[in-house]
Formats: sequence, structure tokens, C-alpha cells
Amino acid sequence: MRLVLLGPPGAGKGTQATRIARRFSIPHLSTGDMLREAVASGTLLGLRAKDIMARGELVPDEIVIAVVADRIDHGDAENGFVLDGFPRTVPQAEALDRELAVRGIRLDAGLELEVNEDVLLVRIRGRAEQAANQGQSVRHDDNPEVFETRLRAYRANRPRHRILRVTRT
Ligand code: ADP
Repeated sequence: MRLVLLGPPGAGKGTQATRIARRFSIPHLSTGDMLREAVASGTLLGLRAKDIMARGELVPDEIVIAVVADRIDHGDAENGFVLDGFPRTVPQAEALDRELAVRGIRLDAGLELEVNEDVLLVRIRGRAEQAANQGQSVRHDDNPEVFETRLRAYRANRPRHRILRVTRT
């Protein structure tokens, strides 16, 4: 089972992807998590992504595409994966098409989570508060100002029609 999960920041893609991954015994591939790990471990990739992510903007396509292309070749993704947060732009969707085609595989479905934007803002505030109350680290980009930028980036770039067309063919 090969799936992509689309939706605005705060929609719950991570939560749903985790559940789907467990249900189908496939890895949950979150570009946000992979990039945050790279930032935390101070790799070259992390250094390039750090400030962009802190501003809530999108990391350049070629960086994210390379990360995903490499990750889907890991043995655990052989029988499938659920992609969370990728593709987020039309060039990323086109690159995913190409990367899957050269491997002779295809997506089974693209799922889009739709959530009212007012609800998203409340959720993001709640997520930050909950993490702080539980003594966990709060994501630097989980604040109302950066969240606005993330939402704008989502709206301006989302490759929804592209994905729906690909998964329907
Ligand atoms: P959310 O969907 O809640 O914004 P993510 O954890 O998916 O959170 O992403 C966090 C940040 O990582 C994004 O704001 C962006 O800077 C970067 N990022 C993640 N995935 C991508 C992607 N596919 N393309 C470009 N940037 C990305």
C-alpha cells in the first residue's frame, strides 16, 4: 500500500499517518520529521533547512525530493509507505511521479484532510500548550505568526489536482 496524505498544517496528517502505517505495517515517511531530525543532528541538510523551517516557509524542492527519493529505497519501504507532508508543490508531485515510475511502482491513493482554518489555529495553539504542559519541546514553528506563513505556503503550493489525477489513472 502506497499512500500520500495531503492537508494543511495542523490537520492531523501525522496522527492519521501513524495509524495508517500501523494498520498496514508500512513506514510513516514524514518530510517534516526527517527535516527536523536533520536540523537536530546538524547535518548539511539540516543547516540548509533550519531557518527556512523556523520561518514557516517551504524547503527548496530539490532538497526535499532528494530526501524522499533516498528514503523510499530503504528496505522497510519495499512493500509500501505512507507519505506525510510530501508532495507539497507541483514540482514535488511531478518528481514523485518520476521516482515511482523508474522503480516500476505507483501510488494506491492520495488522501486529503480538509479542516476549517479557524479550527486549525486553535489546534496549533493547543498543540503548543499541551507540549509545554507535558514538559515536551514545543515546535519552533507552532506559534500563530509562523503558522500563518505555513498556511499561506500550503495554500499557494498544494498539488491537489495533480495528485488526484495521478492516483485516478
Ligand atoms: P506541517 O504540515 O504541520 O506544516 P510538517 O512537519 O509537515 O508540518 O513540516 C514542517 C516544516 O518542514 C514545513 O513548514 C516546511 O518548512 C518543511 N517541510 C516539510 N515537508 C516539506 C516539503 N514537502 N516541502 C518543503 N518543505 C517541507
